[in-house]
Amino acid sequence: MAITDKIYVKNHRQLASQLETNFPKGAFSGATLDILFGGEGLTNLDEATQDRVLDFAEDFLDCDCQSNPHCGHPEEKFISYLLDLRAQGLGPDAIVDVMSDDYLVYAYPGDVLSFLDSGIRTLEAAEQLADVDRQGEQAETIRRRRKDLTG
Ligand SMILES: [Zn+2]
Repeated sequence: MAITDKIYVKNHRQLASQLETNFPKGAFSGATLDILFGGEGLTNLDEATQDRVLDFAEDFLDCDCQSNPHCGHPEEKFISYLLDLRAQGLGPDAIVDVMSDDYLVYAYPGDVLSFLDSGIRTLEAAEQLADVDRQGEQAETIRRRRKDLTG
């Protein structure tokens, strides 16, 4: 399962009751993207919640794809956001705190940790492949990216 399947809406029950409709707890579930982040019931939310829901929509759901928000880009953008936080030196617990503050979503720190671990392993594998192909420059880019992640 991708890490984006393990990102959950905070205060889910409260939000569902403000919106007077139910939606899945997973932030990247299709129905959540439509109902919560799609904008329709937004005015029913309290102001602090509205701001963060809007920020999420603006930062991750802003592509012009016809199938937006179901085109895969929101998930990709969220993953880059996680990797950026890691590159800034944040650990799993701090990353969860920041995403809750920024966007009113959360994950379990253990899931974030295994995502970061597997991300680093993927980069290591890519680095070795690039070395084999003598793509020195590419290997160097990947190596730097991995160094950022392992801090
Ligand atoms: Zn898209």
